Amino acid sequence: MGALDRDWARKDGPPAPPHAPRQSQSREPQWARTMQPPPPRFGGSRPPRPRRPSPKRKLRWGTAVVVAVVAALYLPSLLSENDDFPPTLPFSSSSDAPPPGVGASDTPLGVPPDVGYSDEFVLIEPPDPSQDFIAYDPCRPVHYVVRPEDAPDGTDGLIEAAVAEISEATGLQFVNDGTTSEGPSPDRDSYQPEVYGERWAPVLFAWTNEEETPGLEGSMVALASSEYAEVPGEPAVYVTGQVKLDAEDVTGWLEGPEGRYEVKGLIMHELGHVVGLDHIEDRDQLMHATAPVYEIQDGDRAGLALVGTGPCVPEL
Ligand SMILES: [Zn+2]
Repeated sequence: MGALDRDWARKDGPPAPPHAPRQSQSREPQWARTMQPPPPRFGGSRPPRPRRPSPKRKLRWGTAVVVAVVAALYLPSLLSENDDFPPTLPFSSSSDAPPPGVGASDTPLGVPPDVGYSDEFVLIEPPDPSQDFIAYDPCRPVHYVVRPEDAPDGTDGLIEAAVAEISEATGLQFVNDGTTSEGPSPDRDSYQPEVYGERWAPVLFAWTNEEETPGLEGSMVALASSEYAEVPGEPAVYVTGQVKLDAEDVTGWLEGPEGRYEVKGLIMHELGHVVGLDHIEDRDQLMHATAPVYEIQDGDRAGLALVGTGPCVPEL
């Protein structure tokens, strides 16, 4: 699993402190609403690796989040004793992975739009540094479900609207599989055939709280992460993810005149993490950790278009 974090400051809020490196597997956003900067929340971890080193990105090394690494399912070590295995055979009937290629087409289902050049984005570090970046397989849909329990009044349609914008910016085709009763978990299984059938579990959006999701304590408003899987000889790709939204904090946001607009921006920021973007130092970008930016900007657009061109891996 992997998680990212993000601090978002309200327009009337102070700048948030840099992120402390996160401990584990997912990325989360943190929106600072109070006058007190939130304390560092995470333990040690690897800093993200910029795709193209630049002074700005080097600054991010010390402040960023860690990418999640999960899915040890298909690590080469699993095959080291039998190199005759074809790449499609790491899966067995009893494995923790679905049959390969469920829902996969021969070509990408969509293409990202042409965008102008910008390097104002940061890619999540892939598990293998020789891989340019990590992303969802564009040859298959990105399914998602929503746990609607405790959704704040006034949030109808916001997840779908945010998904639509990220879909357009990446070319990734998202499919809404409806609602679920599954709750968020740092140990969420990427394959839950008893719940979702023999395919990778869909991306889970959940309205949650600080008790269920301790990472949302304080001013942290949302968390997001994706999990990857890989087969030997093929690039790692994301197969599922989670977006955890603090219902109480979002309820407070919605009291403002632009609450829905801002919450949609929050969800888009989270989705940016889900599809493979890390935080950027540029405060004009949606993917800045704390800046009050609620729409996709030029750097975000370039990054989203890039992660929409990931490899297709039908072996997964
Ligand atoms: Zn973030």
